[in-house]
Amino acid sequence: MQCIDIGVNLLNAAFNEDREQVLHNARAVGVSPLIITGTTIRDSMEAQRYAAQHSGQCYATAGIHPHNARLCGSRTIEQLEICSTQNEVVAIGECGLDYNRDFSPRAIQRAWFEKQVELACAIKKPLFLHEREAFEDCYQILKQNCTKGTKMVIHCFTGTEQQLEKYLDLGCYIGITGWVCDERRGAQIASLIKRIPTDVLMLETDAPYLVPRTLKPRNSRNEPKYLIHIAQQIARIIGKDLGTLAAETVKNTVTFFDIPLHISTDSE
Ligand SMILES: [Zn+2]
Repeated sequence: MQCIDIGVNLLNAAFNEDREQVLHNARAVGVSPLIITGTTIRDSMEAQRYAAQHSGQCYATAGIHPHNARLCGSRTIEQLEICSTQNEVVAIGECGLDYNRDFSPRAIQRAWFEKQVELACAIKKPLFLHEREAFEDCYQILKQNCTKGTKMVIHCFTGTEQQLEKYLDLGCYIGITGWVCDERRGAQIASLIKRIPTDVLMLETDAPYLVPRTLKPRNSRNEPKYLIHIAQQIARIIGKDLGTLAAETVKNTVTFFDIPLHISTDSE
């Protein structure tokens, strides 16, 4: 069985001691390839370099997380564009809006989000989107700026039923994390998963963040290998066989990111 983790912060310092081992452990349970999330210019470039050194095992996104929007400058988009011409870079992001933390002023977040949406449309790359408590503005920016045919995934979707419907109407794919394993915060997502069409669902850990609460024993750090645990939980919720869910989400992922379907795990 193969699963693809579409959101791993693999260059995070939490993995500095054992990054290669984390990648190996994920492959050993069938979680491969990994898509490494870029959140600044610097770590997008690092993610691309790491992916180039692990060809076929890792891909990368290139983008500015809304938290980091205040750090953007006159060369940001140009640098992102250069980074995204590399073969390993499969999407622009993560970009979007985060009104939960407000680490960057909202107007600044919106401005840099729009620029990244325009870039993705211009170079015909998918968008890897982050939206937290900012649905209305995020939806409007996508609706007004996305050209037809631009692929979008709402990573770590945690919204309401109505928001889900509107994102689906826009043609968005939906990324689900271990948030769904949280019996308190995740109850709403669990109830909505059945409403996500089979052909737009994708899986992610958001490691090292969002350790699934149902993991036993519970690790303090999330890892891509736990994607299997998340997939099991989702399969249970929607009443589907795990292998079928894995195969469907892999198909969606390779189509969305335009990556080759190559099943390779260390257990082979
Ligand atoms: Zn995010």
